[in-house]
Parts: sequence; C-alpha cells; structure tokens
Amino acid sequence: MIKFLRAYTTTSLLLLIIISCFQFSCEKEVIPKVIDDKALLEAEKDESNWLTHGRTYKEQRHSPLNDINTTTVNDLGLAWSYEFDDKRGLEATPIVVDGVLYTTSSWSILHAFNAATGEKIWTYNPEVPRGHARYACCDVVNRGPAFYKGKIYSGTLDGRLIAVDALSGELVWEVQTTPKGQAYTITGAPRVVDGKILIGNGGAEYGVRGYIAAYSAEDGSQVWKTYTVPGNPELPFESKAIETAAETWSGEYWKLGGGGTCWDAIVYDPELQMVYIGTGNGSPWYRRLRSPEGGDNLYLSSIIALRASDGELMWHYQTTPGDNWDYTATQPLMLADLQIDGAMRKVIMQAPKNGFFYVIDRTTGEFISGEAFGHVTWAKGIDDQGRPIESKEARELNDPTFVRPAPNGAHNWHPMAFNPTTSLVYFPVYDGAFLHIVDSTEINNPRDWNTGRSIKYRGEKLAEWGGLPMSGKLVAWDPVAQKEIWKVEHNLPVSGGVLSSGELLFQGRADGMFRSYRADNGEVVWEFDAKTGIAAPAISYKVNGTQYVAIMAGWGGPEVLWNTGFGRGKVGNGRLLVFALGHDKALAYEEEKLAQVIPDFEVKANEEELFEGSVLYTRHCARCHGVGAHSSGLTPDLRFSSTAVHQEIETIVLGGAREVLGMPSFKGDLNLVQLKNIQAYILTQSKLAVAED
Ligand code: CA
Repeated sequence: MIKFLRAYTTTSLLLLIIISCFQFSCEKEVIPKVIDDKALLEAEKDESNWLTHGRTYKEQRHSPLNDINTTTVNDLGLAWSYEFDDKRGLEATPIVVDGVLYTTSSWSILHAFNAATGEKIWTYNPEVPRGHARYACCDVVNRGPAFYKGKIYSGTLDGRLIAVDALSGELVWEVQTTPKGQAYTITGAPRVVDGKILIGNGGAEYGVRGYIAAYSAEDGSQVWKTYTVPGNPELPFESKAIETAAETWSGEYWKLGGGGTCWDAIVYDPELQMVYIGTGNGSPWYRRLRSPEGGDNLYLSSIIALRASDGELMWHYQTTPGDNWDYTATQPLMLADLQIDGAMRKVIMQAPKNGFFYVIDRTTGEFISGEAFGHVTWAKGIDDQGRPIESKEARELNDPTFVRPAPNGAHNWHPMAFNPTTSLVYFPVYDGAFLHIVDSTEINNPRDWNTGRSIKYRGEKLAEWGGLPMSGKLVAWDPVAQKEIWKVEHNLPVSGGVLSSGELLFQGRADGMFRSYRADNGEVVWEFDAKTGIAAPAISYKVNGTQYVAIMAGWGGPEVLWNTGFGRGKVGNGRLLVFALGHDKALAYEEEKLAQVIPDFEVKANEEELFEGSVLYTRHCARCHGVGAHSSGLTPDLRFSSTAVHQEIETIVLGGAREVLGMPSFKGDLNLVQLKNIQAYILTQSKLAVAED
C-alpha cells in the first residue's frame, strides 16, 4: 500500500476509487496494481493484461490466453466498438491494465476505455498543429502508448513526448524531443526502460539526422541522447561510435541530414541491460548522392545495441550496408532464446524491408543466419560474414531500374508474432517492384521530400511499371531452419500486423476482413468484416474471466495516401473493435458516397506550364492527395474539388485557410505562378476523370 500511495497523488487516489466504483461496483472494489519495473519484467505471467507494446519485453506478441480457440472461435463476435471521428490511418497497439484499455488514434490522440464495456473514460488530445502533416512521410499515425507507474506515455506527430495521468487523463508533463520547425515526426510507441522512457523519430525522407533519446519517466528530463549517423566532422564527435561511423561516409553528407532515423523498433533486454533499436534509410536514398565515394554509411539500416543506462553503442549489425533503396531496419525486433546447432542462443529476429529474415546473437551482434523471405532482386543472398551479395545493377542504378522489394519493403512496421508451441514467426509479406531513377537535383528542397528520386521522368518504363505484378501474403516462418512453413495469399498486397493467441493467429487485411487462422497450418477458422482496411495488430486480454481480442481498424499509411496499387484497400472512419465469445453485435456502417462533380473552372496553361504543374504537384501534393491527383479517399480527391475551392485556392494553399483540417500552408514554398500551374495540372486530371467515366 505504501508503494501504491507513492505512485499516485491524493487526487488521483480519489479518482481511482470513483473510477473503480464506476467500473466494477463498489462492493468488489478492484485497486489496480502498480505497473512498475517488476510488473513489466513479469509481464509474461500476467495473462490478463497487455502491459507493453509487444506484450512482454521480448515483444513476441503471443498471449497465452486460449479460451478463444479452434473449438470455440465460431462463437466469437463483436462485444463493443468505438468509432473515431477520422479516416486517417490507425496503427496502434493498445495497452490493457486491469480492465482499462489505452490506445492512440490518428493525430496522436490518446484514449482510455473500460476494456469490458467500451465506455469511454477519457480522451487526451495533444492538439498536434495540423500543418505538421507536411513532414509526415507516412500519414498522421501513431503506433501506441506505454504505461508505467500510473502514467501513460505517448509521442506526438510534432515531436513531443507526453505523460498523462492514467486515471484522470490529465497532462502531467510534456517535452519537445525534436528541434522545433524541423522535419521530424514521431509515430512510434515509446518504451519503458528502467525508469526511463525511450522515444525515436522519423524524417529520413526530408533530410534529418536520426537519433533516439531517453527521458526520466518521473519528470521528462533528458537522460541520454544517441545519434545514429555522424554530423559535421568539423564539430566534436558525440561519441567514439559516431567517430567510427564518420569513417564510412564521404563528401558533405551532414549537409543532407544523413537519415538513419529510429522511428519504430526499440526493444529492451533487462537481462543484458541493453536496448536494441532498428535504424532507417539514408537521406537521401541514393548513396552516390550523399556519400559519393561509397562506404557502408554506418549506422544506416542497422540493428544496434545501446547500453540501457547511458545509450553507449555496444554493437551493431548492418542489414543493408550503404543503403541505396530505402531499406530501413526499423521493422519490429523480436527477442527469443532458440536452439541453434545444438546450443541455446539468445537471439534477435527481424524481417526488415530489404527482404531477408535475420537471426542475430543479441549478446554480441554476431550474424547467425539470414535468408530471403520475399522476392529480392537487389541481392543474391547473404554471405557467411553476414554481408549481402549485391546486384551490380541495383547498386549502380545508372538507368531507371526496377528493384524488388520496393521502398515500402517486403515487410514493413506491421508487427510480427511468435507462437511458442509451433516455434514459428508470423508476419505479412509484400512483393512489388519500384522504379528507381536517381536525380541529383532532388536532394535540396527546403522543408520537403529529399530522396533523390526523380519526379520528372516520363520515359517508357513508367508504363511497364504499371503492368508488373504485386502481391501479398501472411507467412509462417521457421527462424531456425530459415524457411517458409506455410503461407496464405491475400487478395491485396498490404495487410496488417499479427497477434498469436493460444493456438490461433489474428490478422486484418486491406479489404477489411479480420481473420483468425490456426497457428499450426494457416487454416482460416473465423472472419469478420470490419468495413475498413486493417493495418494495426490485434491484442488479447482478460477482464472478469472473459477473454477479449481487440483491434484498431483503420486504413491509412503512405501506400494509401499516395494511392498506389500497393495500398488499395477499404477506406472509412477508424474504429476500435473488441470481440468476445458469445457476442454478436452488428457493426453500424453507412457507405459514404462521394460526390464526383467536375469543377466549372479554367486555368490557361501551355504544355511547359502543365509539365511544371505536374512536377510540383508530385513534389508537394501527391504524398497526401495521391499520384496523378487520384486520392484514395483518405484526403480530398482534388479532381472533384468544387468551383469554390478553385476560386479560393490561393487562400487555401498559400494562406493556410484549411490548416486546421490538416492542409498545411505552402507559403514560402510555392509562388502564385507555380500554384496556378499546379491548379492547371489538377484541372487536366479532372477532365481525364470525365473521360474515364
Ligand atoms: Ca524511408
């Protein structure tokens, strides 16, 4: 009780009792236990709760709960749902602590629900300035909160780390973790590490320098900060590790940012007192533009181990030396102890974007094994030293070149799960090609996309690209034998993260089907139409003896916003869906009919001006409004913008009149003539839409 009192303020305690009475009735008052380091270390034994991002520090995303199993799953139905007032992507893994479910929705908004009834307890809206969306490469998503000693921690899109009282939903502290006004974003979930909260950031498409930082859970003061790539070599190096890294770069790389952002995977290993992080791609994408004399460009696209106490680098393993294709290694890291060649090894497993499944010794960083799980053309395999055997053509990219996997990866951030009975790892796999076209003029756009990929190319390979096959599947992978055991082909390429629960798996798809599979053979045993595509992973928990499965259903992300074939799926308002045995609630749903009226508006432009308009559209607008002004439906389809919108285009695009709705101001980036050319281009796309119909 003393410990308990220490963790909560008097006001909180009072609120706790009120909420406890409200939730569970006063005769049977349940006092939530304190989620301290001990509770997190013992999360494996705590079957009812989902205490950390990956359920335990190993992040295997397996729940031992098995009331919902192959025999009973037919009786699984919707127990409750909550509809968010937004169509943007949902990617969060909720946290469940003693009957309360905490989650995050788009624009970094935090929510607390009664996990059994769905009653809303509180909402905390950090009021992310909507204009910051211009720096979000990959939608205004958030992958979830963390819980520690009565506080909920979460990152915000505009770079803050916030701590909110878990009972009252009131802000306790917040700290700006990124330089204000720069193109950093936070979409990843924070992790609790021995009294500290760790958070990374993204922005490697915009020319930032990646880092991860640790903050005191108590008051938000910074404990340590570790960069992942070198800065200006004329300034003192931050550490020996950064000095070593600088030797693997050439030219004036620091002026371009470098990249290496740590935007997702952060895993704590309490036994070895290390934190493992995955780092992102190079900024710009192409090595010859950022490091002209080559080199591995440490620590891009790497799994690195940091000492938990001070962030010092202990070891690194680079999955894609000298990254040249946006092959981040930020994808989920999973810890396990595996029997390999007769010995128990403490390993990390990862299936990063580059298409190889890695098993790494987490004590030393030694490469154990790596095999292709997807369709890979950039490398033929991995040699005994753990280095990829690269394709010369993919490295040089002298001409426009098709490379697989595409920059969205053979597997991206969508969490993978491990089932201890089958000893298999389950994750979604995508296959698609990308047309890489190196353009040295595409690296210096202030406040904008700086990948070095041409947006002016109009050659014949564009048409060929459209005809190349793409596909997606759910895979069961044996990490010891390094081979696929079974697969389920999906109807659309991109699908969601995976939960392993008892003998079942749960996964959502782009078309909105939320399915359960037998973990041993992939047989479909149950499905539910969520009416919107699903990217997030499910979780499972228990309240008052009932097992629940919960999922954030909402379709978004970069593939959806760009509206490429990869991201096709069902767009609709996001929802939190919670299932239990013996329930069969219907999902209220109304199909939205979007008016497709061609505006009555003309802008005169010659061919050259239209071409400039198309280039500027691709640079500034396409990543939210879709390639060729074809929107996925997450954002307005500009081909059908009203005549009034066209009349007011200057106040909207340059004046920021719709910034509160997520439309940033491009004042200072575009002048009036350029805007007119963009407008003329959009209007030609409107006319083509008529022709299509
Ligand atoms: Ca990237």
